[in-house]
Amino acid sequence: MATTAISTTPRAWIGCLACYNAGRLVGDWFDAVTADEVTTYDVHGAHSRADSHDELWVMDHENIPVKGEMSPADAAAWGRAIAEADEHLRPALLAWVESGDYVAEGNSDLPCVPDFVERYCGEWESFEDYARELADETGLLDEIPEAIANYFDWDSWTRDLAFDYATHDNPEDGVFVFRVM
Ligand SMILES: [Zn+2]
Repeated sequence: MATTAISTTPRAWIGCLACYNAGRLVGDWFDAVTADEVTTYDVHGAHSRADSHDELWVMDHENIPVKGEMSPADAAAWGRAIAEADEHLRPALLAWVESGDYVAEGNSDLPCVPDFVERYCGEWESFEDYARELADETGLLDEIPEAIANYFDWDSWTRDLAFDYATHDNPEDGVFVFRVM
């Protein structure tokens, strides 16, 4: 079985805002989960530390499913929310949030990971593949003689089933399937 080399670790490029405003990019990549613990000392080093250079800002990020810049505190909150999911589930969690059709935690935009886990049905080549597997698992046609089962209208059944599910594209290939609740 092939392993995906793609990193799912949420990361933030944290820079000094005063330097940025002066036209200099002074900063580095950090793990998002601890983005709020990064200090100006961490991005400047010992030499160029100045009192006015006390504000940090996340100017770029990866594996955080929102667009644009944010505060280190927000990046840390996103990092912790994403890290709640097991690593192999994170691409699906990111796709769920990016779809806009997800369950958020309280008043925040952060995903509710238990709700994600409850809805997620795995990654599949297509929804049809998931439907076939589900039919097998639930023994949909077990009681039906094979000669008759061969006439089962899979397309129609799958179309109806699809009303209870949402699919989001897997950037790698195929789709992530979610139960609609
Ligand atoms: Zn600075």
